[in-house]
Amino acid sequence: MPSAKSYAASSATSPLASLQIPRRDPTDRDVEIEILFCGVCHSDLHQVRNEWSAVPTTYPCVPGHEIVGRVTQVGSSVKKHKLGDIVGVGCLVDSDQSCPQCHANLEQFCPHAAFTYNSPDKHGTAPVTYGGYSSSIVVDEHFVLSVPGNLSLPGVAPLLCAGITTYSPMRRWGDLTGKKVGVIGLGGLGHMGVKFSHAFGAHTTVLTTSPKKKDSALALGADAVIVSSDANDMQKHTGSFDFILDTVSADHDINAYLNLLKIDGTLTLVGAPDKPLPVSAFGLIFGRKRLAGSLIGGLAETQEMLDFCGTHNITSDVEIIPIQQINEAYDRLLKSDVKYRFSIDMDSLKSE
Ligand code: NAP
Ligand code: ZN
Repeated sequence: MPSAKSYAASSATSPLASLQIPRRDPTDRDVEIEILFCGVCHSDLHQVRNEWSAVPTTYPCVPGHEIVGRVTQVGSSVKKHKLGDIVGVGCLVDSDQSCPQCHANLEQFCPHAAFTYNSPDKHGTAPVTYGGYSSSIVVDEHFVLSVPGNLSLPGVAPLLCAGITTYSPMRRWGDLTGKKVGVIGLGGLGHMGVKFSHAFGAHTTVLTTSPKKKDSALALGADAVIVSSDANDMQKHTGSFDFILDTVSADHDINAYLNLLKIDGTLTLVGAPDKPLPVSAFGLIFGRKRLAGSLIGGLAETQEMLDFCGTHNITSDVEIIPIQQINEAYDRLLKSDVKYRFSIDMDSLKSE
């Protein structure tokens, strides 16, 4: 069986380190990809440190679901991709492709969906799927996306998760032109939310805990910034937002943000802290407000998002790191110290 270099965690408390992992020989339907860049999502950190009680981690864990790379082999029945193509892989690598959710292009909700890492590996190559902190990956062509040729690759990688996770709920809300949109948390997801909200013609406000991010929020396309610890400023915006996207990775008071919604306004959660968030019934019923959730996006919508980014020249703002800096990058992620996504240059794995 072929193998690949990777970086993996061997327990919730050990740092990521070099590990050789098995990869399957491509089947008829598979595409083999040499990974060029992989974004660092906060979900990688949650999973590596076993922070999600609903999705316990199997070790070794090779995270990474913001993958961009070059096709090195295709199976005999592969139609969409050919040798040398630049392609992307996001959070999904398999689904049954026969259930109502798959037929509705919502593979992320398929009961048999396999995520890019930490899902049972139906091919039996390993106990679980291994993600993109690796030199290569083999994926069913349905889950391999085409990357527009005009975009810079380190900044494309984060589109595969941070991009689609913010694009999808905004599209689902409807026409945001002229609407007042808030984005809570200016991290990897949040900064993509700002770029999309701006591109969709909304009046975009960043709600941040970090006063130092004010200028760069405006440079990313925000029209206004509220520092959430400023009670006066929060008060001024009561009842004014049509839509708020909550990207916060840690415990926080969601009621403070529900107060900012207009009547019939919607707050959609995409951030995934493990601890339940208490919600004030009064905060919702006075104003007929909606609290919703959203999980990445299906394959068709992910391709639509990538094509939209190609047309509008949108990529993620990245700090490129070698894989050897991944543990330091996790520590910085916890301090909200990244502008605005780490993107790992996989060339650095060659020296391992
Ligand atoms: P990130 O880059 O670390 O950004 C999170 C941001 O949240 C921080 O930059 C910070 O922004 C804010 N924040 C952090 N701690 C906070 C606190 N205690 N109170 C208020 N704000 C706080 O993380 P990410 O990669 O964008 O991921 C964000 C969350 O989304 C994670 O939980 C991740 O697992 C989840 N996620 C969900 C999906 C999905 O499909 N639903 C997909 C991908 C990721 P400020 O400095 O501006 O306050
Ligand atoms: Zn992610």
